[in-house]
Amino acid sequence: MIQRAPSRRRPPAIRARMARYTGPMLSPIPTLQVALPVPLPRLFDYLSPEGVAPTVAVGCRLKVPFGNRELVGVVVGHGQTDDGQGLRQALAWCDPQPLLQGELWQSLQWLARYTHAPLGEVLSTALPGPLRHGEALPDTHHWGWQLTPEGHAQRGKLRAGSRPRQLAELLAEAVVDEDVLGERTEDWRTAARSLSKRALAERVAMTVAPQHAQPLPGPTLNPDQAEAVTAINAADGFQPFLLDGVTGSGKTEVYLQAIIHCLAQGRQALVLVPEIGLTPQTLARFRGRLGIAVHALHSGLNDNERARVWAAASRGEARVIVGTRSAVFTPLPQAGLLIIDEEHDGSYKQQDGIRYHARDFALVRAKALGIPVLLGSATPSLETLHNAYAGRYAHLRLKQRAGDARPPRVRILDVRKRPLHDGLSADVLAGIGEHLQRGQQVLVFKNRRGYAPVLLCHDCGWTAPCNRCDAPMTVHGGGRRLQCHHCGARQPAPLACPACGSLALQPQGIGTERLEEHLTAAFADFPVVRIDRGTTSRRDALEQQLARLGDQPGILVGTQILAKGHDLPKLTLVVVVGIDEGLFSADFRASEKLAQQLIQVAGRAGRARDPGEVWLQTHHPGHPLLETLVSGGYHPFAQAELNQRQAAGFPPFAHLALMRAEAQQVEHANAFLLAARQLLGEQNVVEAYGPMPAPMPRRAGYQRTQLLLSALQRPPLHGVLAQLVPQLYALPEARKVRWSLDVDPTDLY
Ligand code: ADP
Ligand code: ZN
Ligand code: ZN
Repeated sequence: MIQRAPSRRRPPAIRARMARYTGPMLSPIPTLQVALPVPLPRLFDYLSPEGVAPTVAVGCRLKVPFGNRELVGVVVGHGQTDDGQGLRQALAWCDPQPLLQGELWQSLQWLARYTHAPLGEVLSTALPGPLRHGEALPDTHHWGWQLTPEGHAQRGKLRAGSRPRQLAELLAEAVVDEDVLGERTEDWRTAARSLSKRALAERVAMTVAPQHAQPLPGPTLNPDQAEAVTAINAADGFQPFLLDGVTGSGKTEVYLQAIIHCLAQGRQALVLVPEIGLTPQTLARFRGRLGIAVHALHSGLNDNERARVWAAASRGEARVIVGTRSAVFTPLPQAGLLIIDEEHDGSYKQQDGIRYHARDFALVRAKALGIPVLLGSATPSLETLHNAYAGRYAHLRLKQRAGDARPPRVRILDVRKRPLHDGLSADVLAGIGEHLQRGQQVLVFKNRRGYAPVLLCHDCGWTAPCNRCDAPMTVHGGGRRLQCHHCGARQPAPLACPACGSLALQPQGIGTERLEEHLTAAFADFPVVRIDRGTTSRRDALEQQLARLGDQPGILVGTQILAKGHDLPKLTLVVVVGIDEGLFSADFRASEKLAQQLIQVAGRAGRARDPGEVWLQTHHPGHPLLETLVSGGYHPFAQAELNQRQAAGFPPFAHLALMRAEAQQVEHANAFLLAARQLLGEQNVVEAYGPMPAPMPRRAGYQRTQLLLSALQRPPLHGVLAQLVPQLYALPEARKVRWSLDVDPTDLY
């Protein structure tokens, strides 16, 4: 194949003539193969745009016409055409050199193959907004101000005491970083503008980053921690580690020491944390201990801020990046270490669009980068434990809590036949009172926000449904409002039962609001702070609410948002209310999730010197899950659960892919999945189950069905999918549905 430099341009007239030419070809026309963010399983060919082309085109973004729109895509390769017929010319280059290259570029292509998603959509998921839309890689260097020679000469003539004079005196000594100016002087920008208008001062790019504080010393590591750090620092090339340590065992200290080692080698470190784990507290701890800038990447940033961190990382300026799920797409030209904290956390899996798993992708990247990757958790996912038990990951254990803290005592409270007051037994209320009297804090955990899960008519049994979902509406506002937690629908609660006209409508069951109401009345002298998604829509709200409580005795009521991340040294009692729903779920991962949740929330208790207690209030005190957890902790539970998964042929002993389809009419959704199933044909690697209704068959007005594919080995499953998926786009049935493919689904909803 003849490859021409894409910069070689032909005048439009010649191109037009060649397009009509039908005889033997004189010379083929080079084309660019472009990945575009459109839901089609293919690349698109374009002729090079006008203007100077980058020396290396692959990995550069390109603006192209698409239908009557303009899209930004990424050049994947070169091709050629004999006549250019039907090919459109790209509009413009967005990059002078490849934006995507090296390991990240290779890994993203791997991700597209693995998720069986169009490469263009994967790339658009991976890039921060402004880069996705074709904007230039933003500036990342620091800016500072200096006096011009004229400024040096004239500064004595500026009015004494004026702001410009003050600034000029400051700049007379040295070039000053804008960050530093901001710390030292109020409103320096106006003064700087005034000086620069008179050509007395100018803005300059700084070559050195501003000086940061001395790193704070850490505690002396205990032997387990020291052994873990030694093993990680000794890793040569790719090596996955599971840092399996009970809550409070000092995993973060191990991360910090490994990062310090990585930085000393002149390399970059990327730390992934769960969505609710990235608190200002966490960042401050990292900054303080490392003594350098730590770049945060999370959903609270705006698009420009994200793009700046991305750019700073790609230029090697950002040395430590701490971020949530999508931070796994950060370019790391000098990578030395990847860390995934709380690796079992569900927020690492993206549940729409490109359904990637950040932990799994981090492992793929670490392998491509040839660096160690550290998965940390007190409750490792069964997948990860399985890999550790099989010897694929080095298994580092921290069995004791660090420092003086001791593990909490766990008690199961049998509440059968006991009267409950808004879901709380008399024993629990008495226990809470005792801890408060001792000046301590109590956490009441209930994984259900709102006032009550259901509004029930006591006379006829009617329950308030969501009109668009197969689910009841949750009661909020003390019984006055209804809200659907699946589609967001809201309405006032009816005054009378729509079915029988009775006025006997009652909130049924317990949510965090109801617990808050009861506890506020029962312990009027103590603050009660409720924390759930309803109260913490803003990122810093959680911090503010915890600050409201401070160190004084009081009660926290909340959902799993409270289960992680925060050190609450005064917390000595954790009460878990209403775990029973989770004990009998149909989802094969439900027990794993419940066990993790219980252990994580229990780990909040007694993080400091005061010993902690955990009370589990249940109607099923003999349930094996609870018994194993209480008597043996997480590992015996996990081992038993792994045995069950193996017997039942579930992950990690099988590999799943879930096809979902939704449509306004269920026949359309089923017809699509049936056609997909037929395309699978006769083969014996993949078992197909379905089409069957999704666990929630109707959501937001759409009928939802699914087809589950299961295989014992991963490669044959992917072989089948690679054949199947491109054909799905072409199915006539596909036009009437919204469909998606979820490889390694974590929720079969
Ligand atoms: P994890 O990440 O496992 O929950 P952390 O690293 O946050 O645990 O440690 C829990 C607490 O113990 C923190 O307050 C930390 O400063 C302290 N800590 C950790 N390691 C040590 C140690 N070796 N000696 C004393 N205190 C420690
Ligand atoms: Zn009724
Ligand atoms: Zn709904």
